[in-house]
Amino acid sequence: MNTFEFIRPADPAAAVAIAAQSQPAQQGADVRFVAGGTTLIDLMKLNVETPARLIDINRLALDTVEATPDGGLKIGATVRNSDLAHHPVVRREYGVLSQALLAGASAQLRNMATTAGNLLQRTRCMYFRDTAMPCNKREPGTGCPAITGSNRALAILGTSEHCIATNPSDMCVAMAALEATIHVEGQKGPRAIPIGDFHLLPGSTPNRETVLEPGELITHVTLPPPWTGSKQTYLKLRDRASYEFALASTAIVIMTAAGIVTQVRIALGGVGTKPWRSPEAEAALVGKRADAANFRSAAEAAMRDAKPQTENRFKIELAKRCLIHALTIATVG
Ligand SMILES: Cc1cc2nc3c(=O)[nH]c(=O)nc-3n(C[C@H](O)[C@H](O)[C@H](O)COP(=O)(O)OP(=O)(O)OC[C@H]3O[C@@H](n4cnc5c(N)ncnc54)[C@H](O)[C@@H]3O)c2cc1C
Ligand code: SF4
Repeated sequence: MNTFEFIRPADPAAAVAIAAQSQPAQQGADVRFVAGGTTLIDLMKLNVETPARLIDINRLALDTVEATPDGGLKIGATVRNSDLAHHPVVRREYGVLSQALLAGASAQLRNMATTAGNLLQRTRCMYFRDTAMPCNKREPGTGCPAITGSNRALAILGTSEHCIATNPSDMCVAMAALEATIHVEGQKGPRAIPIGDFHLLPGSTPNRETVLEPGELITHVTLPPPWTGSKQTYLKLRDRASYEFALASTAIVIMTAAGIVTQVRIALGGVGTKPWRSPEAEAALVGKRADAANFRSAAEAAMRDAKPQTENRFKIELAKRCLIHALTIATVG
């Protein structure tokens, strides 16, 4: 690990001013915010991340969960994943988020991991984490060995010829289904970014993972008011029962009346280069009977554009079955 300066700013404005001295804001930046450190310090130990300065944001007052005037929820950037998962309002009104958080990592990690850090966690692609290997995400222009190499766990949606890395977050998948908004504070002032616009597809610049500008600090996330009477489910399929990333996952928020789907939001994890909302699957279900045949049609729609890699064709059927089973749990349970 390289040596670095450790800074404890007094307030968010001071944190933003210091971070703005770096270009770019996040990936590859020489000045970085650190929250729980479970992604950043891990990658610093591997010399994948080598910031010269770390800005500790843990003492900033960004650790509360509050109701918003419109009936939604405001979640501070440094709220720990475990605190959020067990928050009574989250458990009662946003069950899909609680389930997704508890499906992630381990209890110890969730006690450290934060809301903002989870939004910005980086891929688990083995080549990205090994500085002896080329990797377009870590070192632009060096190539993507995963395309012809080990890609069993990597993405089948949103890939490019430059990168096929999966976004590993569980929390973000639930937040995509809940239509969360990410609030940031930068040198130019605050701005709000819908989660669907926050993460970028790899395209020809996989090193750029989000729309964050230099120095922008995530201050909080808001959730819209819950759908009264909705059923919510997060289902995660992986190689072992815990402490493992998703091969496929599904977050569902659904409303039915007399057996007909009236509203639904669907997001997929473990298969996309970003948390993957599926408007195709949603459109296939609205106005239709909540039954096995229509769930299968929605799953086919969700995977229509899937592009398997050499080792992960199995993910297409796995993701379909994950979606079908999640819909079944949500509507029958
Ligand atoms: C062994 C292991 C297993 C795991 N398993 C899972 C899993 O199954 N599912 C899952 O979803 N996750 C899993 N994770 C990932 C874990 O959820 C993340 O590491 C964690 O959420 C990151 O949060 P953090 O607060 O520790 O982030 P940090 O490491 O502190 O920061 C991560 C990134 O976010 C930036 N950052 C932090 N806060 C802010 C802010 N407020 N504004 C702007 N930038 C900010 C940092 O600069 C850094 O780039 C696992 C991690 C490990 C180590
Ligand atoms: S998939 Fe992306 S992260 Fe993995 S080696 Fe290729 S460029 Fe790097």
